[in-house]
Amino acid sequence: MATNSNSRAWLGTRLRITIVFALLSTTVCLILGLIVSDLFYKRLNDAMDEELTALSSELSTFVDLLDKTSDLEAWKNSKSRSELKSVVSISLFNEDGKTIETYGDFVLPKIAANHSEVNVRGQRVRVLSRKLDYNGKLVGWLQITKFTASRDRAMSELLNLMGLSTPVLILGFMSVGYFFAGWTIRPIEDAFSIVKRFMIDAGHELKTPLTIAETHSEALEQELMDQRVSIKRLGTVRSSLKRMEYLIDDLMLLAKSEAPVFLKLDHSIDLKQLVQAVVEDFSEKSRAKGIELRCDFANSVIVHGDQEYLRRALSNLIENAWRYTETGGSVVVAGARSADEAVITITDSGIGIPQDALPHLFERFYRVDPSRSRKDGGSGLGLSIVQTIVEAHHGRVFVQSQLGHGSRFTIKLPTC
Ligand code: ADP
Repeated sequence: MATNSNSRAWLGTRLRITIVFALLSTTVCLILGLIVSDLFYKRLNDAMDEELTALSSELSTFVDLLDKTSDLEAWKNSKSRSELKSVVSISLFNEDGKTIETYGDFVLPKIAANHSEVNVRGQRVRVLSRKLDYNGKLVGWLQITKFTASRDRAMSELLNLMGLSTPVLILGFMSVGYFFAGWTIRPIEDAFSIVKRFMIDAGHELKTPLTIAETHSEALEQELMDQRVSIKRLGTVRSSLKRMEYLIDDLMLLAKSEAPVFLKLDHSIDLKQLVQAVVEDFSEKSRAKGIELRCDFANSVIVHGDQEYLRRALSNLIENAWRYTETGGSVVVAGARSADEAVITITDSGIGIPQDALPHLFERFYRVDPSRSRKDGGSGLGLSIVQTIVEAHHGRVFVQSQLGHGSRFTIKLPTC
């Protein structure tokens, strides 16, 4: 149910991104389309104007308004049939604007010097009006008109093409947007599921000690009311609360480790001293359980790192070795420098780990035997914390183990 509504929410987000992408791309295309069609229109008009200007220059050599012969007739005779076909209408006016001579069917009755285009008998024409002078004195006007039909046809073809391709483009943009939205959302979706899984596991882990503490405190209340003080129950409540405290500490450490810089690596640390100190911390516990705990670290090895976090990583591994080794067994913590690496191994003769569990061992909340490690106070976060700390020090941690024969955890850290 929750998964369904989650995937619907992700799909909704994906569709929203797709629509925004498609709208933006379509707007950009429309603006580009407007610019292109405007440039195209201007270019076609310029071409017509150039043609009219060239023709007017050519005609002006034939026109002589002072003699009474037909100037246009002379020009017409100089032209071939095919040349005359492409045109146009021509009018000659005297200086008072009276028509002297015309050629073609769509002549204007008046001089239209202030217009670039006019309608003549329902047809749109482009106009060029040119003054004719003799010795600096205005003697008349030459006016040429040309149909705009071919330009309008070219424009409408362009607009049709743009109109037809727009839906195809929008669909194309939507598909590309849908693909990219999926690609962008995927890591967020994955991170979200990891956080969700983590919250569920953490909640589950916290619930067990909380329920125990609750049950025992209720019983304790009852017993106190009966005037029979129960110290044993108080101990159980305290250990449950302690377990929750450890768990919350671990969770906070892991949450902090998501920050880009969660520890300072600028201290020089003598690993030999650090390992000896941690082993010393466990000596009393090991004696009490009947386990032989040995430190085998010959020479000092210096690394750059965060002492507190490295101590935490080593403690987690030695604690596990202690926890999963039966009485009479041994735990050896050894260290040495190998090339430019510090190598620390924690070897125990404990219960060992099945081969199929090894790939999952460093996952959060993973336990080989959940009932056993929970009973022993393990949170299932210890190894995950070790890995986070070691990797933050640019090192590696790995495990070798044989069921029933013991395990060896190895940490490798770059040396100074
Ligand atoms: P926990 O807090 O439960 O010990 P860890 O992350 O430290 O969680 O370890 C994960 C699991 O790996 C443990 O539950 C245990 O089953 C197994 N494990 C870790 N260290 C050892 C070891 N030295 N020997 C055997 N099993 C181990």
